[in-house]
Amino acid sequence: MKALVKISKILDGCCTDQKVTIRGWVYRKREGKRLIFLVIRDSTGFIQSTIKEASVYWNEAQKLTIESSLTLEGTAKEDRRAPGGFEIAAETINIIGLAENFPISKDKSEEFIRDIRHLWLRSRKMNLIMKVRADVLNATRQYFISQDYTEVSPPMFISAAVEGGSTLFGLKYFDKELYLTQSSQLYLEILIYSLENVYCIAPSFRAEKSRTIRHLTEYWHIESEWPFADMNDLMNFEEGLMTYICQTISEQCQKEFKELNVDIDKLKAVQTPFPRITYKDAIKQLKPKNSILTWGLDLGYEDEKVLAEDFGKPFFVYDYPAEIKAFYCKTYSDHPEVAMSVDMMVPKIGEISTGGAREDNKDILIQRMKNQGLKPEDYEWYLDLRRYGTVPHVGFGMGLERLLVWMLDLENIIDAIPFPRTTRRFYP
Ligand code: ATP
Ligand code: MG
Repeated sequence: MKALVKISKILDGCCTDQKVTIRGWVYRKREGKRLIFLVIRDSTGFIQSTIKEASVYWNEAQKLTIESSLTLEGTAKEDRRAPGGFEIAAETINIIGLAENFPISKDKSEEFIRDIRHLWLRSRKMNLIMKVRADVLNATRQYFISQDYTEVSPPMFISAAVEGGSTLFGLKYFDKELYLTQSSQLYLEILIYSLENVYCIAPSFRAEKSRTIRHLTEYWHIESEWPFADMNDLMNFEEGLMTYICQTISEQCQKEFKELNVDIDKLKAVQTPFPRITYKDAIKQLKPKNSILTWGLDLGYEDEKVLAEDFGKPFFVYDYPAEIKAFYCKTYSDHPEVAMSVDMMVPKIGEISTGGAREDNKDILIQRMKNQGLKPEDYEWYLDLRRYGTVPHVGFGMGLERLLVWMLDLENIIDAIPFPRTTRRFYP
């Protein structure tokens, strides 16, 4: 057998006029009188191949069905008429797995395609999105590592809520009731007392009942916490991370963006510093645009989109009313009604991250828990962190899939993850 070559290498011109063997699946087939045209795909791309009637493999080629797996050997030739500019004149065909009648064809509805996700994941669109997703994860890790952050692994089974109880998934854990984590923040807070700068990339679970284009019930959460830092450090870090990811992807994923027909220039344009506006100024900015936002209400998706359109690029909104923020948010001692909380927003999808300073004073923290109807006894370990060597600290959580929706201009968040979980979707 001749050297096994990935299709993208042949399309890059690595083996013109040489014998190659490729391995993959039949994407398309057209039978002429004397010639069978195949389009073969592997993980890297598509290439056309032709088999002549005179070949001893003609019968094998005739048997081939869409999605059959095979190895194919032949000579790689430049051919302007072929998609991608190259073609393989096949000499040998070995069928590995002959496919039954493949259910996906061009005329199938979006709904149908979503119902057979396990087969749709073979599509070029999903293949490209998943490659970009992997590169975003890599770039994220590279940035954290370059800034001396340690990756940690928090638990998914937890015994007390992090965010509001309304989106908490309960589950039977032997004879007890536990929950699926909504965020790993509190566990990262534990770890800063040992490792200082930490991060994790892990699932978070939210029982979101409403169907939107930006909510999953299971999503991947990029979270980080670190000590001896304030709001300014936090925003600097987040914009540094975001800029690094965008710049890296704009270099590494040009082919993917081109094939997906998505503008990569918006990533190239991401540069520090990001605009920063307070929640108060956001209200002012929204007033002439028919927003009903007043102090004490949370920014809605519509508000976020309007603001994001004004900026046209990533930006921060910070200093929110304390009453709409979680118990752990630190407040200003001279303005206890304001919480040191910050959201990063982007066009189209709105909020992609929330971060802030965490309350490090035990007594204020207990008071905030009580104000929100939480029982401090349930958070003894969390209070211990304030008892033994408390430090000012900050952190944030960014939704990986929301980031991808913005980067790749996706219609819906369910395409940013291979196996989306929503109220209605959990198969396979
Ligand atoms: P929203 O108000 O938009 O539902 P949130 O403020 O409740 O989000 P956070 O608790 O701030 O969400 O979570 C941090 C980040 O995690 C969000 O900024 C977002 O990027 C992502 N995220 C939150 N909930 C979901 C979800 N259900 N599906 C996908 N990503 C999510
Ligand atoms: Mg938020």
